[in-house]
Amino acid sequence: MSAKLIDGKLISAAVRKQVTEETSAFTAETGVTPHLAAVLVGDDPASQVYVRNKERACRKCGLKSTLYRLSDKTTQQQLMDLVAELNADESVHGILVQLPLPDHLDSTPVLDSIRPDKDVDGFHPENVGLMLQGRPRFLPCTPHGVMKMLAHENIDTTGKHAVVIGRSDIVGKPMAGLLVQKGSDATVTICHSRTTDIAAVIRQADIVVAAVGIPEFVTGDMIKPDAVVIDVGINRVNDRLVGDVEFSAAAEKASAITPVPGGVGPMTIAMLLGNTLKAAKQSV
Ligand code: NAP
Repeated sequence: MSAKLIDGKLISAAVRKQVTEETSAFTAETGVTPHLAAVLVGDDPASQVYVRNKERACRKCGLKSTLYRLSDKTTQQQLMDLVAELNADESVHGILVQLPLPDHLDSTPVLDSIRPDKDVDGFHPENVGLMLQGRPRFLPCTPHGVMKMLAHENIDTTGKHAVVIGRSDIVGKPMAGLLVQKGSDATVTICHSRTTDIAAVIRQADIVVAAVGIPEFVTGDMIKPDAVVIDVGINRVNDRLVGDVEFSAAAEKASAITPVPGGVGPMTIAMLLGNTLKAAKQSV
């Protein structure tokens, strides 16, 4: 492997350390402990692991976290009622509804109903709009984590051609939105399932961000020599976690690459903690 490994565990540990120190100072000054309310509906195994990891990370950094577990029979109204309750609870600073929701529930009205100043995932349309206008309240955790990794590695995005593969509201679109902001100044292409000759597009990328959800979708031959490769994908294949990039082949071509696991995943959690602290600070 010739690429430098971008170590998400290491970088996220530095972010968490900073959050811990700032939380301790904030709580000492105000008597307020930042509080995240996490809502988990149903028993999707991956979601349970994600929520547990988020809760554990909160506690380690001195934040309070409360998990609301709802059965997979929960109705849309019951879920909306819980969000309304958490919106009104002044002791709660951040609200997170773990996605995906069971099929019978519509996530859009649920996410829309979270108070924007408690929307620590950064999915509310108001926060998406503020982010796109370059005056963010909360940045969405995964794309923000990627930007933090690039900054930590001193990877200058100015004038670089960044190709984002995937256009979800959670990863692809906000990722492209952050890369194109003034200050980041990348030239951005977004690819999706209807993109023609996607391999040719990816081959032009100085920075590749893969958020497709297909194991090893981006193969080594698609990587331009010395490109930076950020693999957001988390796919379970025979009980092993695999990214959206064919890691070993891509690492032979790239100048820097994130692993899966231990890349973007830990950054997502660290940025959530930062957003929860920010929400608490903005509430006093
Ligand atoms: P998603 O909502 O399923 O979106 C996937 C995107 O990939 C869509 O825009 C889709 O295009 C595109 N796509 C699918 N097949 C394609 C193909 N053959 N060619 C080109 N594009 C294709 O997924 P997501 O929520 O963005 O997540 C993507 C991956 O990141 C998943 O593996 C997920 O587990 C992972 N993830 C990781 C973290 C983390 O913390 N590391 C956080 C969130 C998600 P269309 O729009 O045309 O359908």
